[in-house]
Amino acid sequence: MEDFETSGLTKQRRAVLRGIRESEEHLTAYEVFEHARRILPGISFATVYNSLRYLKNEGLIREIRFGADCTRYDRKLDRHDHAICNSCGKLVDLELSIPEALIKEAARRSKFKAGSIELTLRGLCPECRG
Ligand SMILES: [Zn+2]
Ligand SMILES: [Zn+2]
Repeated sequence: MEDFETSGLTKQRRAVLRGIRESEEHLTAYEVFEHARRILPGISFATVYNSLRYLKNEGLIREIRFGADCTRYDRKLDRHDHAICNSCGKLVDLELSIPEALIKEAARRSKFKAGSIELTLRGLCPECRG
């Protein structure tokens, strides 16, 4: 994955990015650390954490927050929605078509100029539904 986009990155940042891109999941910082360590043994958590911040600011990954204590990292950069399981915490991507009326309503109520809306479905995943 020595493409142009990532060729200017340090090997630590590349390892972090690769960990995220190779995972199907939305990883927490600690999970990213575990992936990056497999690619680059000896990388520290602090380095991973700083790399995550850098990659996010560069627009190479996305950070998604679910409450104060749950931040995950997403390789998918375009607008999409998520479903999260209340029982096991499983998080999956989904794509919904957001009705124009909802965006307008949200803009009206918040008095914000509308950019985009992302929705999070919370419920029980197929495994937890039993
Ligand atoms: Zn579940
Ligand atoms: Zn996602």
